Order: sequence, then C-alpha cells, then structure tokens
Amino acid sequence: MLAVDSLVTRYGAVEALHGVSLTVGPGEAVAIVGPNGAGKTTLLRTISGLVRPAAGTVEIDGRVMGRTAAHRIARLGVSHVPEGRAILSTLSVRDNLLMGGYRLPGGEIESRMAEMIDLFPVLGRKLDDLGGVLSGGEQQMLAIARGLMAKPRLLMIDEPSMGLAPRIVGDVLEALKRVVASGTAVLVAEQNAGLALEVADRAYVMVVGEVVTSGRSADLDENSLLETYLA
Ligand code: ATP
Repeated sequence: MLAVDSLVTRYGAVEALHGVSLTVGPGEAVAIVGPNGAGKTTLLRTISGLVRPAAGTVEIDGRVMGRTAAHRIARLGVSHVPEGRAILSTLSVRDNLLMGGYRLPGGEIESRMAEMIDLFPVLGRKLDDLGGVLSGGEQQMLAIARGLMAKPRLLMIDEPSMGLAPRIVGDVLEALKRVVASGTAVLVAEQNAGLALEVADRAYVMVVGEVVTSGRSADLDENSLLETYLA
C-alpha cells in the first residue's frame, strides 16, 4: 500500500535522505533500522507529508502524493506515532484516545475505544488518569492506541523503545505484535535492531540517509547488523 521511490529530503543545505526506496504491503510489518541521525525520522515525516521531498515519490495505494498535505495523507489511512510520543499530558487517557478518533463517525468512537482497551488493557484501567502521569511504557502504548483510533491501514511508529527500560521494551514489543496480528500494516523506525527484527517481516537498514541493506527479518542477523552498520 506504500511505495517510496528514490526519496530525497533536504533541510536547507543538509541532505538528510539521499534517494531512499522502500515498500510496505497491506498488513505487512516493516522496520527501518539505523543509528541516530540515519534519517529514519525524516523518512517517516516525509511519508506523512510533514516535510516535503526535494525529489522522488511517495505512493499510497498507487497514487503519487506529490505535495499532498499531511491531514489528507492521514485521511488516506496513514497514522504517524511521532518520536517522543507527543502525549497530551494535561488530558486524560480517554481524551487522548478521543483526539485520535476525532474523524470517526460518532457511532464508531466508543466501539473503537473498546477495541483499543482490548489491545492495551493497561489503558482501560487508567482511562481517567492524566496522560502525563503514565509511565514511559504506558505513554508509548497510549501513543500507539491514539494512532490506531483512526482505524489506519498503515501505522508508522518512530522509535517506540526510546527511553524505555528493557523489561518495558518487551511490553511494547508484545503490544506491537498484537497490532500486526490485528491486520494493520506497520512501519516502525528503530535503533533497537532486536525489537525491530522481532516485530517486522522485513527490514531496511539505513545509515546516513541511505538504505545500505534490506531483507526478510529472518535472514538478517542482529549481531552482524550491529557489527557492520550500527556500531
Ligand atoms: P534519530 O534517531 O535521532 O531520530 P534519525 O535516524 O531519525 O535519528 P533524522 O532525525 O531524520 O535521523 O536526521 C537525519 C539528518 O537530518 C541528521 O543529520 C539531522 O541532523 C538532520 N536533521 C534532522 N532534522 C533537521 C532539521 N529540522 N534541520 C536541519 N537538519 C535536520
């Protein structure tokens, strides 16, 4: 459903993406693995229309996005969970979720909220708590659930493991697996190669604005990736 071809993105004189190509099929889980500064965030922001590409194309369902605005790309079924989660800390968990579902027809909001609580039971127990008092792992779950509220066909998640203790990373990993099992396509950007390869069917490894290798997760060895590209 997503095809990125030869994408080039610049910030002024700095070229952050030097011609990146990737695809995500319907219901597929794909990872972008790479160190700090590789351009993962820039890639997700370009796909979701927050940054304009200097060259190359983003196609969703075979349609070239060109200069399509971010809210239109969201309407096509692409949700973006940003780096740092962007939880609204002074709003309740319930209201954070409602924000994610604001475009759903009225009758669907409650049932979608119930599905999110099934997927992330911890959120159901904390609906009235403020977003800001949740733990880091819970905030990541909330950010993912908020992104899913809109019933996207593709959920893009930027660095879900960032700042989380290893045990909590395991909880987020399990949550992501449930998202994939529910049939939503996922594109996850991660420095944590272990998490990325466990969630994704396929992975692209990025280093300084380029894809240096890609393949099925089962064929990519975490240790050799770490040694060769991510050290
Ligand atoms: P991180 O894990 O830190 O998010 P990343 O792989 O997501 O890393 P990007 O944040 O996309 O990488 O950054 C890619 C390159 O673009 C870096 O060299 C960065 O310094 C540069 N860059 C990112 N945002 C901007 C900006 N707003 N203005 C100028 N340069 C930027």
